[in-house]
Amino acid sequence: MTASKLQTAGAAEITPIQILNNVFGYASFRGEQQAIVEHVVVGGDALVLMPTGGGKSLCYQIPAMLRPGTGIVVSPLIALMQDQVDALIQLGVKAAFLNSSIGADAAREVQGRLLRGELDLLYVAPERLLTDSFLSLLERLNVSPSPQPSPARGGVNYGIALFAIDEAHCVSQWGHDFRKEYRELTILHERFPGVPRIALTATADTPTRGEIVERLALEQARQFVSSFDRANIRYRVTQKINTRNQLQEFLEVEHKDDSGIVYCLSRKKVEETAAWLKERGWDALPYHAGLDAATRSANQSRFLREEGVVMVATVAFGMGIDKPNVRFVAHLDLPKSMEGYYQETGRAGRDGLPANAWLAYGLGDVVQMRQMIDGGDAPEERKRLERQKLDALLGYCESTACRHQTVLRYFGEEHPGNCGACDNCLEPVDTWNATEAARMALSCAYRTGQRFGAGHLSDVLIGKATGRVEKFNHHALSTFGIGKELSATQWSSVYRQLVAGGLLEADIEAYGGLKLTPAARPVLRGEQEVWLRRDADPAKRKAQRAERLSKSHEPFAGAGEDRLWLALKAKRMELAREQGVPPYVIFHDSALLEILNRRPGNLAELGEISGVGQAKLAKYGEAFLKVVGAGESRR
Ligand code: ADP
Ligand code: ZN
Repeated sequence: MTASKLQTAGAAEITPIQILNNVFGYASFRGEQQAIVEHVVVGGDALVLMPTGGGKSLCYQIPAMLRPGTGIVVSPLIALMQDQVDALIQLGVKAAFLNSSIGADAAREVQGRLLRGELDLLYVAPERLLTDSFLSLLERLNVSPSPQPSPARGGVNYGIALFAIDEAHCVSQWGHDFRKEYRELTILHERFPGVPRIALTATADTPTRGEIVERLALEQARQFVSSFDRANIRYRVTQKINTRNQLQEFLEVEHKDDSGIVYCLSRKKVEETAAWLKERGWDALPYHAGLDAATRSANQSRFLREEGVVMVATVAFGMGIDKPNVRFVAHLDLPKSMEGYYQETGRAGRDGLPANAWLAYGLGDVVQMRQMIDGGDAPEERKRLERQKLDALLGYCESTACRHQTVLRYFGEEHPGNCGACDNCLEPVDTWNATEAARMALSCAYRTGQRFGAGHLSDVLIGKATGRVEKFNHHALSTFGIGKELSATQWSSVYRQLVAGGLLEADIEAYGGLKLTPAARPVLRGEQEVWLRRDADPAKRKAQRAERLSKSHEPFAGAGEDRLWLALKAKRMELAREQGVPPYVIFHDSALLEILNRRPGNLAELGEISGVGQAKLAKYGEAFLKVVGAGESRR
């Protein structure tokens, strides 16, 4: 931020809220932001736990602009530094980055700017930060102990304003984002004890938090823990029938022109699903660790820079993806844990507009995940932990309670339920007393020798004399045909829930045949009742689908085919292309929507819109007013 821009009121003190209004164009702080900013501005250390999309960046960006010197931001997300810095430059903030993607000359230039006190924010990859040469550069920068007034306050911008450690959970060995360099970041505290540090993460669980405090020596830091609720995300778990068609229908009805992510477990499934979607006209791209770096980066860049791209990916994709208008995250396979699920779905709707988290799930997934854990070569202790985590996720999938409430309870937070934004609240699910059915299902598995899968067992229960049934003489069993009052779909739902609930397990040696566990005993003995969820039956679902389709479903964030909306988006894309930045760096969808709804007639009115700061107003104000004006005259 140039000094002149903020010097609107002479030499008067610049406050955090003024920066928020003038630079970022936002009217007020969200949640804990103000408290965090005020704590860090005066030199306090902080540990910030906030969900994805909560607004963590402002918590270090504003103090970096208000404190003398440059804010040094450590981030593992090299591929995204460019976009983060571009977004700041759009706001008129003096920012740069240093990582392996830039050449020696460019790096020298950035270092020169740093030493001359010309930067408010510098993003650095951890491995670069830890080099001797960079650390001694920081020491040269830090020589002057006397506090300098910041440029925002009209002085020279010399020294180190703060260290921000983004994605701080990367210190955790148990998380899948572990980076060994993060363990060495304590050096910042040892060599620059006077510089405040702010560590930030969206990973909520207590063990990880403890590890961050310990590994980064943040015992003295104040902890700011926000609510982890993502009220704008609609959670839905749907039972697999024909997964691809279900996905296709979900996209067609709710996300025709939207960007989103489809997660699959294996590389092969990623490739196949992406190709399948592409054939059906979706702008789908694959992403997984087996693709070469150039393809990965090209696909990621298209996802960020263009609209309406569907990324089909393994979990290798997504960390730190800060594209604000990801409108949906779909899972075609089960995530490994609630933590994984919440992190992956959390990439939807960072802009605060409604977004969907959609998961398709079936018995095969439970069996597959359990076998992956059991068959892996992790130590037994680790496997036990993984089994517990999977069970918590299965409990969530089978739950009939509010999803927001269930997720948050897992992370130790209370939620009143009845959220109005999950499948179970929007279309409440019945439970039924399935004690009798469970006993039939269990004894059928027992009498057939605990070697068969749910499909065959259903056939026996319903009394269907298939070739297989006859081959094994199962039509002669006492359980043959005792379950006629339920359909095959209903039996498959019973088996899924019995496996998910741990009463049955798939035997890897017997090709996934279902075996009884000790937990089945009290049910068979009649000592324990079993209540199961009543899955929506496919015929009813079909009727609901027809009704949804006929309701001319508005894509819930955008404004559909409205001419002005399309013209605004086209203008945004044109400006983005000219500068080689993603469209959301110009304006977020939320700002564009507000322009559409309020139709500002002059710069002052445009400037009132959330997300339109001074720099963007000066740069793009006229261009967008012209689009609005042309739209008005056509009406
Ligand atoms: P996080 O890093 O926590 O995922 P970001 O810092 O990227 O979140 O912020 C998420 C989105 O919310 C961004 O688009 C950001 O511009 C916006 N945002 C942050 N703070 C505010 C605020 N006080 N008012 C309005 N929008 C905000
Ligand atoms: Zn709910």
